[in-house]
Amino acid sequence: MKPTTNLLAFDQAALAAWYAQAGHKAFRARQTMHWVHQRGVADFGSMTDLARPLRDWLAEHACVRALPVLAEQCSRDGTVKWLFDVGAGNAVESVFIPEAARNTLCVSSQAGCAMACSFCSTGAQGFSRNLDSAEILGQLWWAEFTMRQRLGLAEGQRAISNVVMMGMGEPLQNYGALLPALRVMLDDDAYGLSRRRVTVSTSGVVPMIDRLADDCPVALAVSLHAPNDALRDQLVPLNRKYPLSELLAACERYLRHAPRDFITLEYCLLDGINDAPEQARELLALMRGRFPWKCNLIPFNPFPGSGLGRSSPQRVAAFAATLAEAGIVATVRKTRGDDIDAACGQLAGEVQDRTSRRGRRVVAIADAQRAAAMDTGWTA
Ligand code: SAH
Ligand code: SF4
Repeated sequence: MKPTTNLLAFDQAALAAWYAQAGHKAFRARQTMHWVHQRGVADFGSMTDLARPLRDWLAEHACVRALPVLAEQCSRDGTVKWLFDVGAGNAVESVFIPEAARNTLCVSSQAGCAMACSFCSTGAQGFSRNLDSAEILGQLWWAEFTMRQRLGLAEGQRAISNVVMMGMGEPLQNYGALLPALRVMLDDDAYGLSRRRVTVSTSGVVPMIDRLADDCPVALAVSLHAPNDALRDQLVPLNRKYPLSELLAACERYLRHAPRDFITLEYCLLDGINDAPEQARELLALMRGRFPWKCNLIPFNPFPGSGLGRSSPQRVAAFAATLAEAGIVATVRKTRGDDIDAACGQLAGEVQDRTSRRGRRVVAIADAQRAAAMDTGWTA
């Protein structure tokens, strides 16, 4: 019989329950987590400290498998981007971003997105489907063990130190699948990342911000992009359901649970739309007296048909300076992997757009690589 249950879908508690239900020792879950998530082993026969009957049973009923890789692009700056096949002509992407003090993986949570933010190419594609836990966590599993091998890291050395849920999709619209994946990221028997090194970014799904606070208060980033409801209604349509007053109140509640004492507000600077110095001052007024926050200013990544432009470096600098003068830490996100379009939703958009020349090229690479990529598990 073909293996069906992907172990990448389980957090440790769920794996233990699954084992117990099948008559195996629950404590074997811990050993299994070590093999899969700390050593990258996908072949049950190699998991030598598991009881033989469990190994045989796993070989029959389970698998460890990441999504098939359609394409990989490596930037001159070390950024690596993978495009994963999620079926039905859809794809999601993950981006590995090496920096001096950390290596960050940007992970996707959905194929497409229903939130329809006007400046986002994922939003422009519409919503296809939620990823399941194995598909979310599989991105980390794949990237961690691919990069460990490629960077020549010694046994036990980690390739990825930080995870940001800032790829395609709205993670808090896929909470049921997100939560087990976050738990494995934090589990000391798996990736062992501290809660401060895992960031969930949301466009503002207020009830789910409260759920996350209770269940797994990792670092929170909120995509604000505007200092008032009128403008945010236009840029982030979800604002019409959860306006700024409700969103900021949820952030305040979140910080009571979070080990991290600030929230990152993301602000994508759009030329002539939200990037004026008076809008920076309006943002300061909006936030005055509320809670500790930092601002992540993101230069807009243009895409065809958006009708929007990137703010000039001078305007970005002026906006950042206005915040900084008021004592707010404002970092301008560096554009990484510019030569490979390593921005939210861009490459996956090309695959969907099979009529564009570049899209056809990517699909051609994808077709050639598909067969080779079907079985992605390898043994560390
Ligand atoms: N859906 C979540 C997380 C994914 S998007 C969210 O919206 O927060 C991650 C970040 O990239 C968000 O802050 C989003 O607003 C921003 N973003 C989306 N499209 C962008 C673009 N074209 N240029 C720059 N930033 C963009
Ligand atoms: Fe979805 Fe985030 Fe893009 Fe908005 S910015 S459409 S929430 S992925």
